[in-house]
Amino acid sequence: MKLFILGSGTCVPYERRGSSGYALKLSKSTLLLDCGNGTTWKLGKVGINYLEVDHIFLSHFHPDHTADLIPFLFATKYPQAPKREKPLYIWAAKGFKKFFSALQKAYNGWIVPESLNLKETKEGIFKFDGFTLTARKTPHIESSLAYRIESSGKSLVYSGDTDYSEPLIELAKDTDALIIECSVPDELKVKGHLTPTEVVKIANESRAKKIIISHLYPICDKTDITSVIREHTEADVILAEDLLEVEI
Ligand SMILES: [Zn+2]
Ligand SMILES: [Zn+2]
Repeated sequence: MKLFILGSGTCVPYERRGSSGYALKLSKSTLLLDCGNGTTWKLGKVGINYLEVDHIFLSHFHPDHTADLIPFLFATKYPQAPKREKPLYIWAAKGFKKFFSALQKAYNGWIVPESLNLKETKEGIFKFDGFTLTARKTPHIESSLAYRIESSGKSLVYSGDTDYSEPLIELAKDTDALIIECSVPDELKVKGHLTPTEVVKIANESRAKKIIISHLYPICDKTDITSVIREHTEADVILAEDLLEVEI
């Protein structure tokens, strides 16, 4: 599988890092993990046509993870744009249909292409054509889920936004790659987000082979958090950057 980091930042406007979005190319399908602002046009920058995306999995409903659903769906519906031939599935936690119906009300029918299928998911294991998805709840907000995707003998886990979590460690057991949020340095710890020390703990307890540190507030770039994390774990440590491609 091939991972493309579209947005390694947060809600804070920052020239180096856009809001959360990750594209994953599998043997039979293309997935989007989150759709924060800027995700749609950055798909093009990494060479993925937005019409290629089969499934969007949302980690939770915060705007920095969902705001680009609007341009993505408007483009998909736009009559002068190339027509989408295959179905599009958007998956998120319970409450998503209600969340989407509010968006739909605000934007009339402009963001509801014919191909759209909305799905609410809960914790569990789900089989798709060519991949398996496991979802676990995380401590951040009510709708927060972390995902594990397995395909062609490889696995990738995406933490979404989260605090320290045993279920996340279980989900990430021996995974080939773990995209893990690391919002702020240790001294600025806030509830519902991780710091470098907690990232190290999760990396070591899960024995993830590679960790990709992401969801970085600008303050994270003021210190060398990568070296701090690298010093304390055997995992291969990658600092996420927008438009970075990672072979898994
Ligand atoms: Zn966030
Ligand atoms: Zn959040």
